[in-house]
Amino acid sequence: MTMPTLDADESVEVDLGTAAALFRSLGDQTRLTILRHLALGEHKVVELTAHLGLAQSTVSAHLACLRDCGLVASRPEGRASLWSLAAPDELLAVLASAETLLAATGEAVDLCPTYGTAATGADR
Ligand SMILES: [Zn+2]
Repeated sequence: MTMPTLDADESVEVDLGTAAALFRSLGDQTRLTILRHLALGEHKVVELTAHLGLAQSTVSAHLACLRDCGLVASRPEGRASLWSLAAPDELLAVLASAETLLAATGEAVDLCPTYGTAATGADR
């Protein structure tokens, strides 16, 4: 099996700080839940609140973060806003790749003392 190799020039050009920021944006279970649900179609905040069983303040705060990150967009409809994924194909590809990576690594990250599901870090 041939392992993929990073092109030396590419590794210099890739802004790893920006990539890390993207993963931090995705690194929250509630934000992932919202993103996955928006893959079903446009939603108002009140709909996300009802469908996901989350507080409206929670949904609004995470949507604002995800909008600032460029991952979701909204358009006005009446007095409300309809929220959707800004780049659905690309986002779903990342999530699918994450599932593939989890399978390949035996979901070992789940046991990670820093990032695992039992970790007590502040940013979870
Ligand atoms: Zn829904």
